[in-house]
Amino acid sequence: MTDAEELLGMVLMSAPAGDYDKRVVILTKERGKITAFARGARRPKSAMLAKTQPFAFGVFRVIEGKNAYTLLGAEITNYFMDIREDMVRTCYGTYFLEMAAYYGRENDPALDMLKLLYQTLRALCLGRIDDRLIRCIFELKMFVVNGEYPECFRCVVCGKKDGLGHFSSRLGGVVCHECKAGIHPLYPVDGSVLYTMQYIISTPVERLFTFRVTEEVRKSLRKIMDIYIKDHIDREFHSLDILKTLETA
Ligand SMILES: [Zn+2]
Repeated sequence: MTDAEELLGMVLMSAPAGDYDKRVVILTKERGKITAFARGARRPKSAMLAKTQPFAFGVFRVIEGKNAYTLLGAEITNYFMDIREDMVRTCYGTYFLEMAAYYGRENDPALDMLKLLYQTLRALCLGRIDDRLIRCIFELKMFVVNGEYPECFRCVVCGKKDGLGHFSSRLGGVVCHECKAGIHPLYPVDGSVLYTMQYIISTPVERLFTFRVTEEVRKSLRKIMDIYIKDHIDREFHSLDILKTLETA
């Protein structure tokens, strides 16, 4: 019989299973994304009811089975309640969880992704930075964590470090003035946008959510991220549709 293990992680998704059970997807530092069943977690007085809700972060005690884990217990240190109390923040938070679920892999330790998720949700709770900027930072850093981020330090064609004024999603990074001819589509990136992207790429997650940008820079960054995500992620995130209706309302 396998021994129980303690895994540091966050609940990404939670769904009913059977009459009283829950099926949860947890992103863990040690084992990446795992699926676990919490027996009886939907019984009204179950201690596991709250501990198996999305955003719950802490140490999960699990035992490995043939196809899935069984969740035996959990010590939750942060429920991120502030996020759940606000509709817009819930959408952003859910989107971050969905993206982590998209990228998380079983048996692929996920310390960096877990750290990014935790710090992003913390920034969302604190509310010192515009939610929309938090989203851009999270998205770009998620690409960094997964090693497929755009080249923002040198021209993807010639390797030069100056005169970088354009962005090509197809080529995966910035293009200098001399190389831009014949490349379509190209999007302009000014110095501030480029600097912001370089900062996000090179700064440790713990210090990432400490800056603000002008509305103009944020909009340019949004546009670049939209294009890059469209070209590099082959799925749509449901939480973003809800967000669109809430933000235009
Ligand atoms: Zn060039």
